[in-house]
Amino acid sequence: MSSQPPVVLTIAGFDPSGGAGIIADIRTIAQFGCRAAAAMTSLTFQNAAGVFGATHETAKSLLAQIIPVIAEQNIVAVKIGMLPTAELVSEVARLVRENHLPAPVLDPVLKSSAGDELMEPEAIQSLVHQLLPLVRLITPNIPEAEVLTGAQISGEREMRSAAAKLREMGARSVLIKGGHLKQELGAGSQESGLAEAVDLLNDEGEVSVLEGEWIDAPPVRGTGCMMSSAIAALLAHGWDLVAAVTAAKEYVATEIQNSKFKSQG
Ligand code: PLP
Repeated sequence: MSSQPPVVLTIAGFDPSGGAGIIADIRTIAQFGCRAAAAMTSLTFQNAAGVFGATHETAKSLLAQIIPVIAEQNIVAVKIGMLPTAELVSEVARLVRENHLPAPVLDPVLKSSAGDELMEPEAIQSLVHQLLPLVRLITPNIPEAEVLTGAQISGEREMRSAAAKLREMGARSVLIKGGHLKQELGAGSQESGLAEAVDLLNDEGEVSVLEGEWIDAPPVRGTGCMMSSAIAALLAHGWDLVAAVTAAKEYVATEIQNSKFKSQG
């Protein structure tokens, strides 16, 4: 067996504050025993308060970053984050379609945690038409799944329909993250008073509901980045998708829990 760790390429935005984007991706990929390579789609100007601007890469400059990396390294898995323009979406789709890159784990980054738009409307259309049919997995949260499907999601039933709809739209597998939908456990049940963070995975038609305890913590930036990077890293190690998603969910829950202790300390 080779002693070299598998290489995971993240194609994502750069958040200089380190909360989200490439820095969060690299940290996560390393935690899961992989080596990270990174291509930047956008240099954003931000901190926890908001996004104050960004300079986007072009298709040419993104390609110029990726070509020397793939010429030299065997990229085993790809994670894609912020793709702000239709031009960048098309270029990434071309690289996957022409087999220069493996089928990616796609985290559709539409807005920052503070609510700033990170993707142009035409780029969202291109993502749906060009990239969605090429992904191994797409990992929208509920607001992102609502934008992509045009349907409102207020519970597990709608999460199921939205995941099925995204598969009809071309995605091989879909993980809808329920972090924006706190589900109260039934009154009168033994666990009454607890709340759940339910994620729903539709892997090529097989649906799993992944339950996790709701962690009452201040919002943590970069959880979507961590989740998709952890899944990509575990896929790079050869894990199957359900096991990878389950372990990635546990990892993100621990990170949220740790941030709670840090904010209290
Ligand atoms: N990527 C970049 C560059 C960002 O700035 C953000 C949010 O601000 C994200 C991704 C998405 O972050 P999250 O993982 O919190 O959805």
